[in-house]
Order: sequence, then C-alpha cells, then structure tokens
Amino acid sequence: MTKPETKPETKPVTKETFSFQTEVGRLLDIVASSLYSNREIFLRELISNGSDACDKLRHSALTNTALIDGDHDFKVELAVNKKAKTITVSDNGIGMNHDDLLATLGTIAQSGTGAFIEQLGKDDKTDLGLIGQFGVGFYSAFMVSDKVEVTTRKAGEDEAWLWVSDGKGEFSIESAERAERGTTVVMHIKKDAKEFLEDARVSHVVKTYSDHISFPVTLGDETLNAASAIWTRTPKDITPEQHTEFYHHTSHAFDDPWLTIHNRVEGVVSYTNLFYIPTHRPFDLFDPERKGHVKLYVNRVFITESIDGLLPPFLRFLRGVVDSEDLSLNISREMLQTDPKMAKISTGLVKRVLGELEKKAKKAPEEFATFWEAFGVVLKEGLIEANPHQDRLLKLCRFASSEQGELSNLSEYVARMKDGQDEIYYIIGDDMEQVANSPHLEGFKAKGVEVLLLIDPVDEFWVRSMDRFEDKVFKSITRSDAGLDDIAGKDDADKDEDKTKDTPSLDTLIAAIKLELGEDVKDVRVSKRLTDSPVCLVADQDDMDVNLERMLRKQGQLNGPMPRVLELNPNHVIVSKLAARVEKGTKDDDGLLNAAAYLLLDQARIADGEVPTDLAAFAKRLSAVMEHAL
Ligand code: ADP
Ligand code: MG
Repeated sequence: MTKPETKPETKPVTKETFSFQTEVGRLLDIVASSLYSNREIFLRELISNGSDACDKLRHSALTNTALIDGDHDFKVELAVNKKAKTITVSDNGIGMNHDDLLATLGTIAQSGTGAFIEQLGKDDKTDLGLIGQFGVGFYSAFMVSDKVEVTTRKAGEDEAWLWVSDGKGEFSIESAERAERGTTVVMHIKKDAKEFLEDARVSHVVKTYSDHISFPVTLGDETLNAASAIWTRTPKDITPEQHTEFYHHTSHAFDDPWLTIHNRVEGVVSYTNLFYIPTHRPFDLFDPERKGHVKLYVNRVFITESIDGLLPPFLRFLRGVVDSEDLSLNISREMLQTDPKMAKISTGLVKRVLGELEKKAKKAPEEFATFWEAFGVVLKEGLIEANPHQDRLLKLCRFASSEQGELSNLSEYVARMKDGQDEIYYIIGDDMEQVANSPHLEGFKAKGVEVLLLIDPVDEFWVRSMDRFEDKVFKSITRSDAGLDDIAGKDDADKDEDKTKDTPSLDTLIAAIKLELGEDVKDVRVSKRLTDSPVCLVADQDDMDVNLERMLRKQGQLNGPMPRVLELNPNHVIVSKLAARVEKGTKDDDGLLNAAAYLLLDQARIADGEVPTDLAAFAKRLSAVMEHAL
C-alpha cells in the first residue's frame, strides 16, 4: 500500500486512484444497471453501518476512553438536500483511516455476499430483482446514486480522508478535512431515484427498516426511531416485522427468522437473550471454524460477535444477541471466556433453546421438519461433543428409515420395532439413493424390519459415541452379526422356510470361491439378509464398520480396502448355477469360476457405492463371462 509518512503536515496532496476488486465490479454493474422494487434498502444499509461504527467505537473506548473524547452522544444523522440532489448519512462512530478505507470500501467484506455474487456469475437466470434483499451493504448506495463521497476520520487520529466513486470500476482516496471523528456519506441521487429526495419518504423508510437501531437516527430535529436496544423492550411490544428487521441487521441475513426466542433471566447471573433461528442455512454454516454468531453485549455495550464459551458449536446456527449486566466490561476476552458466570449463562441458554425446539417438535412437527432439514446436521454434532444435553438432543433427532416415507424420531422407531427385535438398525452411506437400495436391506425389508438410513458424515461418529437410545443399542446392518434370525417378520409363516439351509453343494461352492478370492476376502458365508441380490460384503464381528473404513480411506488415513466377509444369497440363480457347476466337478480350465467369483466381489463393492479395485481386470472378466453366456 502506498501510505506515506503520517504526519499531519506531510499529508499527500495527490489523489490516489484504485480499481475495485473484481467481485465488487461485478456487483456494482448489477446494482447500477437493474431496477429494483426495493432499492430503498440503501438507507437501511448505510444506517446500519453508522450504527455498527458507533458500537465499535463504544467497544474500543472500554480500554481507551480517550477515543470518545467527551462526545458520548452516538447518533446517525440524515439530511436531504433537494437542491443539491443529495442525501447525507453521517455518524460519530469509529471512522476509517486510509488503510481501513482501502481494506473495506473496495472489496467485499461479507462472506455471504461474496458467495452470492459468485453464484450470480454461474447462473445468469438468477432473479436480479432479488439483489436488494441480499447483503450488498455499502454498495447499495449505488442503486440510487451516480456518485458517492465518503468523508471519514478515525477516532483517535488527526487525519481525515475523502473516498469518492461513481461506482464504475474505480474509486479514489485523498486527504480531507473533518472536524470530528466519524463518517459522512454523501450520495448524489440519480434522476430516476429523486423520490428519495423527499423528507417524508426518507422518514418512512427509516421507520420501516431501522426502528430497532439502538442509537438515535435523526432527520433535522426529528428522531425517527425508538432508539432503544430492541432486546430491552417488552417482548409483546415488538412486532414480527421489527424482529425481522433487527434479525437482518444483526445477522446480515435476508430471510425471515424461523423462530424467535426472546427472554429475560433474573438470578445469580441475569441476562437477556434475543435469538433468531434462520429459515435458511447461512453461507458459512459449515466453515471449519464452526464459529458462533451471537453477539455478546454487557449492559448494552457491544463486546464481541462470536465468543467461545457462550454457545456450543452445535447451536452455531443461532443469531441474535445476549446481553448481561453481570459480566465485567473491563476484562479481556480470554478472561470473559473462562468466567464462571459465562458458563452459567451458556447452560441457561442451551437449555432454553433446546426447550423451544422440543416445544416446536411437539406442537408443530411440520415446521420442525423444515428446521431439521436446514440444521439437523449441525444439531447432531452435539451428539459427539461431550455435553450434558446429549439425551435431549437425540430425542430431537429425525431419521429417514427404510419403511417410512417421512422422517421419524427414535421413540417412534422403537414403538414400531418387531417382536424379538431389541436393537435399532441403521445403515450408513454417502447418499440416500445408494443406502435405500443397498442389498444389505433386502432381508430386513422382507421381514418388514425398519432400518434407519443415515447419510451425514457426522452419523458415523455419533452412533459410536451414543451407542444406545434408552435401552436400545444401535446396530449397523453391514456387520456380519446383525442377526435377523430372532425377529418375527411379516411373512415368516409362508415364505421363509428352508431359505437359509446350507445345502452340501453350497459348502463346496463356498470353499471354491474362498480358494479363488484368497486374501481378497476375509471369509465367504451364506447370507441370511439377501433376497434379490446375489452377494453383499459385510464387516466381520470385530472389524471396522464398512462405511467408517470407506471414510477413513477417503481421508487417506487407511490404505487399500480391508478384507470383508462376502455373503452369498443361497436362493439366487447365479449362486445355485455356480454351485451346480462346482458340484459337477467341472474343471475351471476356462477360468470362468475365477472370473465369476471376482465379478461377484466387485458387484458387492459397486452396490456399496464403491469402484472395483482393478477396473481393467473387471472389464476383462466381464467380457469373458459375457462371451461364455452368449
Ligand atoms: P458490512 O457492514 O456487512 O461489513 P458493508 O458493505 O455495509 O458490509 O460495509 C463494509 C465495511 O465498511 C464495514 O464492515 C466497515 O468496516 C466499513 N464501513 C462502512 N461504513 C462505515 C461507517 N459509517 N463507519 C465506519 N466504517 C464503515
Ligand atoms: Mg453494512
């Protein structure tokens, strides 16, 4: 960066010109060239920035009171000048210096917006009319302006700077004058946006979108908003629209909250929480850092967004604020994190949120289902984190099953268990299609025994750490000991007799296949779980489960596949024909038995969503067998 020596006397007189980051350029093109039904949101965005700037200064001043320098009356002032055709939004917040300006007003700060713009690049059909609802932030000024001037001075610094752009690819920065700290944004309003040059219009827009701002927003002598922190108001006095606006402001989100949780707790530690559960997944839900986004306030002073220890990562979809007067303002973030009061608040919050979710699950199962679809995966992470809420969480979980069109909870599953069944069966895989059609399920389907279909990566871990639901143990059906024998199936009486009897010829076949496959399988056995497919692979009693192994292999933590038990369906025609061939003592001169044995093994792998280990050999064997058959 070209920042000169910063002594007031040696301010650069020259104007520096910069290009916008590519994504900003693209965003500005869209913003400037389309017409929006809701472009009045530019005011919301700029007021929101002014309010954020005041919050930031108030926070910095906790450790450096000199920054505020006597001026404690934080506010955002609006002015409309019809003659000059300008709207001005001015704040006495933290302000920006040269580097801040370069780092923020030229790039895209918000990850969500970046992702949205990227999406626009890919898909031209995106409804551009919607863009106003997204987080275009500061750049929304260009929806209504053909030129924007930002004069700003950072609290505690002497220099002021002027940032100017017409929103067409470039912006400039030069030194400027500003008597006090803060930021003034002057928008030169476009011809087609002159409706905003009316006080009444501006006033209406501010009342609609910015009432929740905790600092006064003024136009002339009039204060337009309630100017009290929304979470300090009585819950029944807050309209759903006000909640939505506050949610948008505080979360940089643009959907409606799915659930609002607003309450005050008085006790050893007192606090207020105003939480929103979004309707849609936020963009960064699966960031590896698993950061929370609930803002912490101490006595209405903003402290930080996302502090560890306030909420566990499995609730990271929550947005909103927690405000406590019992935490100390003047201790470091680290000390705050380990403050026992913080732990108390956290426990209270988790209980409250789980309680609200339980209520929803009970009273509005359909609405709960939409929540589950968006955030169930995250909630399930709580089953593997050591926490005292695991049992409550497990009850909230919803699962797809082989016998039900809809998701069910575990109590429902248990209630439907068959006579003689005392385990909860599950199968884990990468996608629904694959697990739902897995050969492993066949015997269970034939008996009407329900199997949970699990396809989230986290499932592999929680079934291990939770082990059981109430007194019922979880059991993977891809294991050799997932016994079906003791369970009375729906069609036991007529169909099942003799199916699994080992005939002598099968013993010979098994021995022959074992010989052919050698080390590539752990064992070959007769299957009790197959009805349609000829073969499947299962994990031996004490071996690692099939899906876990696959996952570890993908992550490079295991080499090559582990030998598995190959199970043969005694009733399948391929198996009985092979058995007959072996029984007759036919010599395998044509290598057909060998080819068939390996093709069966490969087929079992394919059914598990895997690729045969040696594709060239696979193709060769397939040709050999087809040639023979034709
Ligand atoms: P966001 O508010 O989501 O971060 P914006 O596009 O609205 O995104 O603003 C980008 C950045 O510009 C802000 O994060 C902030 O650092 C800076 N900024 C914008 N307006 C102001 C202001 N009035 N005072 C101080 N900084 C500001
Ligand atoms: Mg903003």
